[in-house]
Amino acid sequence: MDDAPNSEHFTLTPIGHVVSDYPDKFGIPRQPGLAPAADARLVLTAPYNDPLAVRGLEDFSHLWLSFIFHQSPERWSPLVRPPRLGGNKKVGVFASRSTHRPNRLGLSLVRLVGIDTQHGVTLQLQGCDLVSGTPVIDIKPYLPWAESEPNALAGFAPETPPLMDVTFHPAALDTLAQRQDSATLLALIEQVLSQDPRPAYKQKDRDSERLYGVRLRDVDVKFCPRQNGEATTLEVMAIEPYAEQ
Ligand code: SAH
Repeated sequence: MDDAPNSEHFTLTPIGHVVSDYPDKFGIPRQPGLAPAADARLVLTAPYNDPLAVRGLEDFSHLWLSFIFHQSPERWSPLVRPPRLGGNKKVGVFASRSTHRPNRLGLSLVRLVGIDTQHGVTLQLQGCDLVSGTPVIDIKPYLPWAESEPNALAGFAPETPPLMDVTFHPAALDTLAQRQDSATLLALIEQVLSQDPRPAYKQKDRDSERLYGVRLRDVDVKFCPRQNGEATTLEVMAIEPYAEQ
């Protein structure tokens, strides 16, 4: 009775895909909303791109996206090391938002800024934490009166993470100034780097002033940690066109 309707296995079909400012997983903030300058589009696929299917959605400011962590491996383990715990303490996978989980299902609350129904359906989003190409399997409108609980306890991640200071080398500012999207790209770089995208578990590396790269839109942003006494600042050294490896 493999094909019984109440089968314990489910097949999911993406309703669309995200096109975002994040060509790579590395550097993406660890929750949505942390980089509001990040733009994304959700392009719906036939037959889900029927304008009737989004009728009324324009009156909601925020949406839940259910998606698949398609760039994560299918293997999972019961314990994970969340970056918020420095990458060396373990918690249960179901006590975390880890991308390495059974079924690889993700859930993000994003801002809806517009709906284009000229050719199929495209939703304009802000603050998305999804890599470009992410398959989305459902959209639901966010209900603030039912889904926001300001007094909720948030375990090992009780509040927004502290922000790092970000500075720009004059050469990087020059490159930015020549771009049409300089204001929004500058904001995006600041918001992404202030979350400290450096891998949490490589403590040794974190103290050295090595060069890191994070891809945003069509550029590779090279940055370097700078020690100022106790504090570390991330300095943007160069903004280079991205070259495929
Ligand atoms: N808000 C989501 C995501 C949290 S994990 C949730 O709670 O389910 C956030 C991380 O997911 C980001 O830092 C990014 O590196 C990673 N990510 C984003 N899209 C991904 C994808 N399609 N596959 C694998 N990892 C992805």
